[in-house]
Amino acid sequence: MTSITKSYVLSRMLLLSGVGFCLGWLLGNAFLGLSVVLMTYCLWSVKELFRLLDWLHAAKDRNEEPPESKGLWGEIFDGIYRLQKHHGRARRRLSTVIDRIQSSTTALKDAVIMVDRHNNLEWWNLAAEELLGFKTPDDKGQPITNLLRDPRFVDYFEQGRYQKPLLIPSPLNDEYQIEVNVTVYGRGNRMIIVRDVTRLMQLEIMRKDFVANVSHELRTPLTVISGYLETLIDGLHDHDLPPVWSKAMNRMQEQSLRMQGLVQDLLTLSKLEAAEIDENSAVSLRPMLHAIVEDGKALSGESQHKIYLECPEDAELGGCAHELRSAFSNLVFNAVRYTPAGGKIYVRWWQDEDRGHLMVEDNGIGIDPIHIPRLTERFYRVDKSRSHATGGTGLGLAIVKHIMLRHGGRISISSHPGKGSKFVCHFPKKRLMILADE
Ligand code: ADP
Repeated sequence: MTSITKSYVLSRMLLLSGVGFCLGWLLGNAFLGLSVVLMTYCLWSVKELFRLLDWLHAAKDRNEEPPESKGLWGEIFDGIYRLQKHHGRARRRLSTVIDRIQSSTTALKDAVIMVDRHNNLEWWNLAAEELLGFKTPDDKGQPITNLLRDPRFVDYFEQGRYQKPLLIPSPLNDEYQIEVNVTVYGRGNRMIIVRDVTRLMQLEIMRKDFVANVSHELRTPLTVISGYLETLIDGLHDHDLPPVWSKAMNRMQEQSLRMQGLVQDLLTLSKLEAAEIDENSAVSLRPMLHAIVEDGKALSGESQHKIYLECPEDAELGGCAHELRSAFSNLVFNAVRYTPAGGKIYVRWWQDEDRGHLMVEDNGIGIDPIHIPRLTERFYRVDKSRSHATGGTGLGLAIVKHIMLRHGGRISISSHPGKGSKFVCHFPKKRLMILADE
């Protein structure tokens, strides 16, 4: 099909006007002739416009071909028809894609749910029906919080902080655990993906039980071994044993003590993971920190570290005293172990409007910043040989992190190699508020 150009249309109109003008001139009135021709053209255009309108109305429901027309109007009809066909093809392609996406999400084992910006259910897959009990089509348009009523879900969904997934029991059977992930898209629409994590949770429980049981079972034989070793070393004089044996006995005792420390730390971690805080009292911080500082000085021994304490007399914190003591002493003992002899260590507690903070700062060997994000992982060590030399188990900071989580707080770490390290435990306001309320 040849398309009509603008210059072709203009030249045809000029030609028509010229013919009208000439005919009018021959008949005695050139302008009348011109007006008649232009008026006829206008009327014809209006008629074609009406035909276009009728066709557009009709084409909405049926896929009808456009009416036949000539010239400019013919070109307009054909152009619109071509566009319509093109859109039709694109729509069909799109709906094939949507069908494929829908059928693949239907085959998914994870529940996929679309929620509009008014929190109403728009669409969900088959797994959502099996996992959450949604019913098609009854639940369409229902607010999601009417169907998933667990207060933890309602809070999580309404607060809009979806960085971490939420773990809750399944609404159909509370023996099953589900993990909810929410993604915001478009203008406040949300896609919710729900996974059944019961098996994973069971494995996690098995892992925790296994570690706790093994640690528990190892405790008694280790106590016996190190007890006998100690008795033997104390009872024998150097000249009773060949030097190689005496050295071996000392090494054996050293290693059995290390294993005892390891088992003790594993048991502590297991306990921290297993239960909620059992004790929640007002802990007087100054005497606790003072005792820890004294223990730190004893650990330092001949290394003569200078440990400074800054804490108001009346400072108090709501929490579990022995857990807090364990966390703070881990930090202070680390500072002693990773700071060369004569180094300085500052222990400071302060409170601001939002939170309470406990800082342990040293001017020791420091840590390369690349290690800092992984430092609180179990058994993560910056330098294995150095940690062995200082008698570390690699679990100290993991214990601190767990204790902080149990107290609703967190730990921040900053350090520079060769310049020292700063560990700060941040406690939420409510840990300070408990005391204000009492
Ligand atoms: P470890 O028992 O090995 O000390 P931790 O979990 O307590 O285990 O600490 C993890 C690692 O963090 C340590 O191996 C050590 O390299 C580093 N670290 C901890 N505290 C300090 C500190 N105050 N200064 C320098 N490095 C530290």
